[in-house]
Amino acid sequence: MNNFSYGRATDTASALQLISIDPPTSRFLAGGTNLVDLMREGIEQPQSVVDITRLPLAQVEQLPNGGLRIGAMVRNSHLAADPAVRKNYPLLSEAILNGASAQLRNMATTGGNLMQRTRCYYFYDEASHCNKRNSGSGCDAIGGFNRIHAILGSSQNCIATHPSDMCVALAALDATVNVTGKNGDRSIPFAEFHRLPGDTPDRDTNLEPGELITSVDLPASSSGLQSLYRKVRDRASYAFALVSVAAALKIEAGAIRDVRLALGGVAHKPWRATTAEKALLGKAPTPQNFEQAAAAELAPAIPRRDNAFKIELAKRTIALALDQLAAGQRGAQ
Ligand code: SF4
Repeated sequence: MNNFSYGRATDTASALQLISIDPPTSRFLAGGTNLVDLMREGIEQPQSVVDITRLPLAQVEQLPNGGLRIGAMVRNSHLAADPAVRKNYPLLSEAILNGASAQLRNMATTGGNLMQRTRCYYFYDEASHCNKRNSGSGCDAIGGFNRIHAILGSSQNCIATHPSDMCVALAALDATVNVTGKNGDRSIPFAEFHRLPGDTPDRDTNLEPGELITSVDLPASSSGLQSLYRKVRDRASYAFALVSVAAALKIEAGAIRDVRLALGGVAHKPWRATTAEKALLGKAPTPQNFEQAAAAELAPAIPRRDNAFKIELAKRTIALALDQLAAGQRGAQ
């Protein structure tokens, strides 16, 4: 590991002040569950690390509009167990509990979860060509072993996937990310927080250098909207998603009145399935309609040598999740 300077911030102002010395070569340190691994491997080589674990951003608060504000330093285990989250946003709690081990969830923070980097094997292997690690060097995953890689939204420069479960739920819930930096505060809709790889796969998010995530807001939960999170992976625990689906459905008078769908494990960012959502609104909640909507969402998918199976897997997981939600609402009527 390279030498780096270390500073501990006590509030947001001191965090911004410490990072301002050289934002592009500095990193905020929260739970450290991904950053420290990357530093050990030499993938991340910051000159300066700003410890933000003492920042007073570890609260979950009700908002006047009925929504919820989650501080950036709220630990994943705390968030999954929060009574308001379990009651009004069970999808989020379920997604978090599907990610990582209990020990990692005890350390990992809300802000850090958003900042996770891909688990593409070539990204972690310094002997490989990787545009995300070393811009312009090529992408060994495209012609290599790419079973875990993206089928949607990829580019000729990168086919990596985003590893988070929590972020898939936040995408479906229309969350907003609140950040602060040298130019003041701003809020970023969740769909615009993470980026597709395009020509700049080295950039995972639309954060500016030195900007700090302070909280994530959830809008008020919609009454009658039932939700679930389904994750398909190679083994039952401690594995990243091959495909995951965050789904929410509201049925009234035999028709779909509200639907939210987001996919994990298929793209460089949590993938909001807007094509499928549009195809379903106002329709009857039938297996055929669910299958057709899933097929429409996956129509632009591009398979690589080893991951074509993900297309069918994603379609089936979407249809099954929606079917299960519809059956639950029929049973409750
Ligand atoms: Fe690097 Fe992306 Fe290619 Fe993986 S898929 S080797 S992260 S450029």
